Amino acid sequence: MAFGNQQLTDGPLPQQFIDDLRLQANIVQVVQDYVPLKRAGRTYKGLCPFHSEKTPSFHVDPEKGFFHCFGCNVGGDVFKFLELHEKVGFQDAVRMLAQKFGVSLPETEEDEEGRSDARLRESLLKVHEQAAAFFREALAKVRPASAPGSSSRNGT
Ligand code: ZN
Repeated sequence: MAFGNQQLTDGPLPQQFIDDLRLQANIVQVVQDYVPLKRAGRTYKGLCPFHSEKTPSFHVDPEKGFFHCFGCNVGGDVFKFLELHEKVGFQDAVRMLAQKFGVSLPETEEDEEGRSDARLRESLLKVHEQAAAFFREALAKVRPASAPGSSSRNGT
């Protein structure tokens, strides 16, 4: 792995920010910076930047926000495109895109990258576990015997 690239990163970005950016970023606009695209109905196509070809098999779907090449089978969303084309990590791809679309990055005061990324994932897992435990407990507390209405129905 080469770390020659300038690191733009401080820490991991919140998922919410990434999702918002994905919605805002126009994948056609991004790809067009690298690949000349032609409109083909609902989608766009051009010569694939990831393998050499003479007839365009590289498609971009602006509605879904995805690209796909039928020649070499690469595909993904707008971040994936930048990752592959600029040979950067996911977080850097997000940052580049944010810069391009003039979206200001959220303040992240995390420690070293990667480690905090793992920690975030871990804490997310924990939240899921806690939520599951909470619901299990809540369900266990609702006893069918104590439910009102079930026995008084028979009277009428
Ligand atoms: Zn290709």
